Amino acid sequence: ITTKLPAVGTTIFSVMSALAAEKNAVNLGQGFPDFNCDARLVQAVTSAMERGLNQYPPMPGVPALRDAVAGKIAAMYGHRYGAADEITITAGATQAIITAILAVVRPGDEVIVLDPCYDSYVPNIDLAGGTAVRVPLTPGTFRPDFDRIAAAIGPKTRAIIVNSPHNPSATVWTQGEMLHLQELLAPTDVLLISDEVYEHMVFDGERHQSAARFPGLAARAFIISSFGKTYHVTGWKVGYVAAPAPLTAEFRKVHQFNVFTVNTPMQHGLAAYMADAAPYLELPAFYQRKRDLFREGLATTRLRLLPSQGSYFQCVDISTVSDLSESDFCLWLTGEIGVAAIPLSAFYPDGFDQRVVRFCFAKKDETLHSALERLRRL
Ligand code: PMP
Ligand code: GLN
Repeated sequence: ITTKLPAVGTTIFSVMSALAAEKNAVNLGQGFPDFNCDARLVQAVTSAMERGLNQYPPMPGVPALRDAVAGKIAAMYGHRYGAADEITITAGATQAIITAILAVVRPGDEVIVLDPCYDSYVPNIDLAGGTAVRVPLTPGTFRPDFDRIAAAIGPKTRAIIVNSPHNPSATVWTQGEMLHLQELLAPTDVLLISDEVYEHMVFDGERHQSAARFPGLAARAFIISSFGKTYHVTGWKVGYVAAPAPLTAEFRKVHQFNVFTVNTPMQHGLAAYMADAAPYLELPAFYQRKRDLFREGLATTRLRLLPSQGSYFQCVDISTVSDLSESDFCLWLTGEIGVAAIPLSAFYPDGFDQRVVRFCFAKKDETLHSALERLRRL
């Protein structure tokens, strides 16, 4: 058979989690918490199920949850989306991203992605019949290189995908960088797909620069987030997309024939839980403490630390401890040292290797301590 994605294998996250389980390694590879979510959230979902909220919700999502999301975005970023026609609840950010792409990318269109990028973007663009134009972030710092981005924009450019806080590099775009993007896109009709799944994990007193804060970006943006990241429930697969009404209308045309809608009790539970802003307002401090604990420990190993400004990832340079490629190092580290990590090369086109791997620190302190104890053997 002729395959649609000939170059695609199994995603690195599944591969490394399976290997970590097989080798009994501490799994700092795939990004997910190893601790439970707030019991009140479980209670809110349970209560929804008990009240019989178990049938299809409205296609764009439960109204109370869309209201809660619109309220949160207005409070945090100062932009008021209409809950009725500008917010859609999705099956995680993953479905939001592919649905946005399928809704707007036509065969022959180009979509700019910034490498390293999350591994679903390019296959999603391929499935839409578009072409991914891969522009590297600045080597070493992972900051946007606006000259290169500007050079990549042409008559076929339909959209650009931006992800801040960034997976895997843990950089966070500054206000100046967002303004620069806004200025660059102003004379064009290029759409923005803004992957903001780590929006509530920004450290050191900095603020998340959501595209919603910038009117010239919000007007052309699908802003995507994930309750999985924010509330420690990655397995629930619930997220949302906020976009101006005309873009939302296109989004929903695809969404209704893709998943149609998203599980009802989780949506009601999340809506009730969102009435309290504390859980997401406390998230930066919660993860900053884990980041600091992990970094202090890593500083006593031979790995070289890169900055971590946001997300729940920490990258390290492995060239001080090994001559192996990133992939081989991750296999070796999992099997021989007992800690799983993700090679950055998984986020680039084939073959690029800068000797950097990613750890996830969304783990119990004891898990981080046990990984650090093993990493000290390097
Ligand atoms: N985008 C990025 C940058 C991510 O890291 C992830 C989660 N790994 C997703 C999207 C997908 O989020 P979800 O689990 O809600 O589908
Ligand atoms: N986003 C997670 C990561 O980067 C993994 C999600 C997945 O397994 N697809 O590790």
